[in-house]
Amino acid sequence: MRLDVLTLFPTIFESFLGESLISKALDKGTFEVHLVDIRDFTEDRHRTVDDRPFGGGPGMVLRPEPLARAIAASRENAPRETGARVVILTPAGRRLDQAKVLEYAGLEHLVLVCGRYEGVDERVARTLVDEEISVGDYVLSGGEVPAMIVIEAVTRLLPGVMGKAESAQEETFAGGLIEYPQYTRPRRFMDLEVPEVLISGDHEAVRVWRRRQSLRRTLDRRPDLLDKARLTPEDRELLAGIRAETAINDPTDKKG
Ligand code: SAM
Repeated sequence: MRLDVLTLFPTIFESFLGESLISKALDKGTFEVHLVDIRDFTEDRHRTVDDRPFGGGPGMVLRPEPLARAIAASRENAPRETGARVVILTPAGRRLDQAKVLEYAGLEHLVLVCGRYEGVDERVARTLVDEEISVGDYVLSGGEVPAMIVIEAVTRLLPGVMGKAESAQEETFAGGLIEYPQYTRPRRFMDLEVPEVLISGDHEAVRVWRRRQSLRRTLDRRPDLLDKARLTPEDRELLAGIRAETAINDPTDKKG
């Protein structure tokens, strides 16, 4: 997989790409990252990338021409059969989720466009970009941190990047639910014991306990996920049990 990052601040990515799993995967050649300085695609002496907004108002807007040239250059480097997927990071985009991350992990060439200032001239998003993606309902100063979020979420799903393939299958959102709680040594910490079942050696009991915890947490914290989750008959039974238990413990709880 090839990732191009179009940015005004390529050096921001240096330590991010130089550490941990990402750095190892880059060394192995699992994927490559090309940092593209948008300023290299300006044509004036001052390497100007921004200008005042038409209609007035605060701040500056990224001009379309350098971005258009940078995007065109990235598209030229894409494999002819599949082309490139060009994604602009913007708080006004569709919210990134694990399904989108999985989709990106299957691409050969992903181009991430980082905005700055008041954002990018609208005509870039309208004509040169395939998708607009947001990393959450808050506003950051630039698209670089959002691009890192996309890179990390996507590349950890590539074969050989994570230690064990099962990690990605079990974790939060993978099956549409929040993951069960994890424990490690010591067995007792601040008067709290590790749940007995996890040290029982009974793999089936551990599996059911984890699934139940996963369902319970999702019901408590993100009930919206349950509507879309792929639930088995066993899950439905466990959920009914959790709901009944909640109703007994708190008769005013409407979830019961
Ligand atoms: N004026 C823009 C607005 O209100 O939508 C905000 C621009 S923001 C200060 C500058 C750049 O940061 C954006 O062009 C975008 O690339 C990036 N950015 C900020 N928040 C983001 C988010 N939640 N998701 C993705 N990108 C974001």
